[in-house]
Amino acid sequence: MTKSHRTLLIKRPLRIFTTEERGALVRVLNRADALGNLWARGFEIWSIDIDSRFAYEFDYFKNELRLINAKKWLAKVHAIFNVGVRLTNERDMGQGVFIDLTENILRLRWVIKRRAIIISLTPSEVGYIRDRLNESGKPKLARAWVDDGHLYIAITFEREVEPIKPSNYRLVIDVNSWRHGIAWALVDGKISSMGRERPNLGYIETLYNHVTMLEHKYGTLRRLGFHKTPYGRKLWREIKATRCRLYAYLRDYTQKLVHKLAQKALKYGAMVIIDDVLEESRRELMEEKLPNGLAKAYMLYLRRFIYLLTNQLAWYGVPYEFKRLPSTKCPVCGNELTQLPGRVMQCPKCGLKANRDEIPIKWALLHQRIGSRQP
Ligand SMILES: [Zn+2]
Repeated sequence: MTKSHRTLLIKRPLRIFTTEERGALVRVLNRADALGNLWARGFEIWSIDIDSRFAYEFDYFKNELRLINAKKWLAKVHAIFNVGVRLTNERDMGQGVFIDLTENILRLRWVIKRRAIIISLTPSEVGYIRDRLNESGKPKLARAWVDDGHLYIAITFEREVEPIKPSNYRLVIDVNSWRHGIAWALVDGKISSMGRERPNLGYIETLYNHVTMLEHKYGTLRRLGFHKTPYGRKLWREIKATRCRLYAYLRDYTQKLVHKLAQKALKYGAMVIIDDVLEESRRELMEEKLPNGLAKAYMLYLRRFIYLLTNQLAWYGVPYEFKRLPSTKCPVCGNELTQLPGRVMQCPKCGLKANRDEIPIKWALLHQRIGSRQP
C-alpha cells in the first residue's frame, strides 16, 4: 500500500470579498507565508500577530508537507489548515477549512477572529470533491495564499493505493509537442487502438496574436505616457482577459486529455509507458520559430500534462515508466531513418515507411515482445 495525493485548487478574485475580509486575507496569509518560509529554513516560529494554529499546523503536517512538496512542481510553504467535510450530517469540529457539501460552501477559518469566511463552491469543484471522496480519498490538508489579486485554496486529498496488477496491455504515450499532438497507442502484442490528440492550434494562435497586437498598442501608449488613461486601462484589462482565456483553454485541454488517458489505462489495466521528449520538443519548437511567449506556454502545459498524468496514474495505482523510444531509428533493422515531407520516416536499408509518430510505438511493441519472452 502506498499513499497518493491529488489536489484541488480553488481560485477566487479578492474583489468578491468584503473590505474587512480582503484586508484580513492579504495580511494574515502573507504573514503566514513569511512564517512558513522561516519554518522551512529550520527556524522555530511562533506568531503573536496571527492565529497561533498557523504555526502549530506547520509542525503537525511536517511529513505530509515533505511528501506533497517533493512531487509538487511549484513547492512553497503556505498557510496550512486541517480540513473537515460534511457530506450529510457530520459535525463541524471547527477545522481551519470546513467543506459543507449540504450547502456547497467552504468555510475558511483562523483568518478573521471568531468567524469564518464563506466561499461558495462551483459545481465542478463540488464534483471534484465528491469524486475524490467516492474513490475513498480523504481530505488531508489545505493550503491558502494570496497572489496577484486572488485568493488560492489548495485542498489535498490522500488515498491508500493498492497498485493494480498490469494486464498484457500497454498504453504508450508519446509526449511530443502540442503542435504535432500527443500520440498514444494501446498495444497488446499488436496495436489495438491509437490516436493523436491536439488542441485547437488555430484558436490558440488567434488569441496569442491578439494579445501581442494589444501589447504592442499598450507599449506605444506607455512610451507616450498615456497608459493610465481610460483607454489605456481598458486595453490593459483586455490584455489580461485574453491571456487568461488562452491559459484557461490550455489548462482545460490538458486536464481533459489526462483524464481520458488515465481512465483508458485504468479500464484496460494497462501499464503506461511515457516517452517524454521534452528537450527534443523544445528544440522543435524553437526550429518552428514560434513566438517565444507561445513556445513557453506550450512547454509549460506539456510539463503540466506529464505532472498531472503521473499524478493521476499514481492516484489510481496504475504503474508507469518513462522510456525513451527512438523516433529516428528503424524498428525493423536499427538503421537511421530519413525524414520525408509530411513527417513520414523511411528506412534506406529495409524500406520501412511510417509516420514519425508510429515509430516510437513500433519500438514499444518490440520491447513488449522481447520483454514477454524473458522469464
Ligand atoms: Zn530498416
